[in-house]
Amino acid sequence: MSKLDTLARFLSEARRAVFFGGAGVSTESGIPDFRSPGGLYSEAPETIVSRSFFLAHPEEFYRFYRERMLYPEAEPGPAHLALAALERMGHLRAVVTQNIDGLHQRAGSRLVLELHGSVHRNHCVRCGRRYPLQAVLESEGLPRCVCGGLIRPDVVLYEEPLPAGVFERAEALVREADLLLVGGSSLTVYPAAGLLQYYRGSRLVLLNRTPTPADGRADLVLRGSIGAVLSAAVARL
Ligand code: NAD
Repeated sequence: MSKLDTLARFLSEARRAVFFGGAGVSTESGIPDFRSPGGLYSEAPETIVSRSFFLAHPEEFYRFYRERMLYPEAEPGPAHLALAALERMGHLRAVVTQNIDGLHQRAGSRLVLELHGSVHRNHCVRCGRRYPLQAVLESEGLPRCVCGGLIRPDVVLYEEPLPAGVFERAEALVREADLLLVGGSSLTVYPAAGLLQYYRGSRLVLLNRTPTPADGRADLVLRGSIGAVLSAAVARL
């Protein structure tokens, strides 16, 4: 049996499957990841996306953020669409993502836990007023609230805690999962990558172009394009 057939069998037999993914899920939508060659991290220091950098150099943060982290034209790719189809077909319970681009929801996934927030939600640090992505896109320099306060994205920067309750919900879903699909993530960003330790089942599947620290623990490892692998698995169901 090929690895793809095994993946399709795992999916068809699963009742509480969870997908846990990262930036590699969106590279096929034209959004660079952090750690692939040509990824964002190879061009800019990780420190720019940190709380201390944001507070000390907000103009520079926003220059980088607008140029390199916002992709308002991006469309869901084959991996997003396959995951949404799996949920509709009853083969996937939830998507847990480290991504901030909102593409899983755009693709039609309903239960999506965003561990690192979303570029689509923004708020004023002074009065708390909410703003859509458009407010950041249409502003120049520092995006300002009507009250004059600084608008910031509800995105988890390095040095910041995860949004309250989201990791706990993800942890519960992973604990209950009978299949855990992990893909498009280098599994190096914590605490997110720590989610794997809560999985108790015997069907841990790794779908990633490059090796990850969890490959040795996986029951099935598939290399290559996550969009191609997931689309092919869905086509077999
Ligand atoms: P990462 O950049 O550290 O790792 C991405 C992984 O995906 C790599 O191992 C790479 O080999 C693999 N990959 C890339 N394209 C792939 C493809 N088409 N098919 C299969 N595998 C592919 O990403 P990470 O682990 O998510 O950590 C980066 C952090 O940066 C996260 O916290 C995330 O929030 C943030 N980030 C988000 C986005 C986004 O929202 N789209 C983009 C860049 C970074």
